[in-house]
Amino acid sequence: MKLAMIGFGQAGGKIVDKFVEYDQRHGSGIVRAAVAVNSAKADLMGLEHIPQDKRVLIGQSRVKGHGVGADNELGAEIAEEDIDEVQGAVDSIPVHEVDAFLVVSGLGGGTGSGGAPVLAKHLKRIYTEPVYGLGVLPGGDEGGIYTLNAARSFQTFVREVDNLMVFDNDSWRKTGESVQGGYDEINEEIVTRFGVLFGAGEVEQGGEVAESVVDSSEIINTLAGGGVSTVGYASETVEEKNSGSGLLSRITGGSEDDQIDTAHTTNRITSLVRKAALGRLTLPCEVEGTERALLVMAGPPEHLNRKGIERGRKWIEEQTGSMEVRGGDYPIRNSGKVASVILLSGVTNVPRIKELQQVAIEAQENIDEIRQESDQNLENLVNDDEDELESLF
Ligand code: GDP
Repeated sequence: MKLAMIGFGQAGGKIVDKFVEYDQRHGSGIVRAAVAVNSAKADLMGLEHIPQDKRVLIGQSRVKGHGVGADNELGAEIAEEDIDEVQGAVDSIPVHEVDAFLVVSGLGGGTGSGGAPVLAKHLKRIYTEPVYGLGVLPGGDEGGIYTLNAARSFQTFVREVDNLMVFDNDSWRKTGESVQGGYDEINEEIVTRFGVLFGAGEVEQGGEVAESVVDSSEIINTLAGGGVSTVGYASETVEEKNSGSGLLSRITGGSEDDQIDTAHTTNRITSLVRKAALGRLTLPCEVEGTERALLVMAGPPEHLNRKGIERGRKWIEEQTGSMEVRGGDYPIRNSGKVASVILLSGVTNVPRIKELQQVAIEAQENIDEIRQESDQNLENLVNDDEDELESLF
């Protein structure tokens, strides 16, 4: 699936930057165009793979290239004011060659948190291609304002995109690591999951393994209907055989060894499907009640088989209660591993979001209280007790 990716804010820019690098490394062909938008000049300069002419600095007249300091209302205002400049960069994308837009942003900050929903709304008005969001939730230790920003941005972003895929920093952070090092690793995890998912739709149909290759329309149909999505992933290293022996045994009907191999392959696939769905999801949630799902089995073709995928697909149907579970292969030679990626689209039972909203409401109330109190305190300080002094004018 070919995407036009737009990273908004620092996290968004860094993640899209990593997608570009992943795409070059794997030749997966998913990033047709990459743009970064920010109100902080230094963040744009820190990017490595997004071309210079695709980095858009917005809000210069308001914040002079210094960012909005976690004020997401200002982030949204600036995005609206300078939307033409962002559109200027989008204009250079051959949109007829992309299957969808992907707007990527951290939801807890200012520029991306406020700007990403504004951009999504704008793109949807102009283009007929789907506009997806990839939103990153802040860690629980980042503090009240980040949680409040994220809760408000999440609500707005979901409304403006065709589907919001969510990644929760909180369930991925590791203790005892520097923030920067931690993010590098986390960003790698993000890009691997979504890279395999979107890469699956880029395999040419036809050839020896065309049986059940995932098509980009299956990804689009799984995401259609809107709402919130999460992704599960599990992988296992495998030894690759040279492909000649596989072909020969298929012609001769296969040996007993091959039959054992087939059973083993099927079992490995079903176990990877379970691990992916029951392990750590990008956004932790209850799997039951998911509206639609897509299973992608990626790896060397001799380690994939239809029976395994079919079993895995049925198992996901049982777990989710969904009647719309799609599945297929993503054959990749020389990857050295078999991976299962599960896209759960239209999840609704997400305690993490409810908890985020609760903390956000408390933060909002505290902020209002503190503001009122400090107004009062300043008043008390500046004015004399008996009100005997008069100000000059
Ligand atoms: P903005 O530039 O004002 O949009 O704000 P940032 O993108 O710097 O930060 C927004 C939120 O994104 C933070 O609260 C973090 O939770 C998260 N974040 C920042 N940088 C990264 C990153 O590189 N990777 C990930 N996964 N999250 C990040």
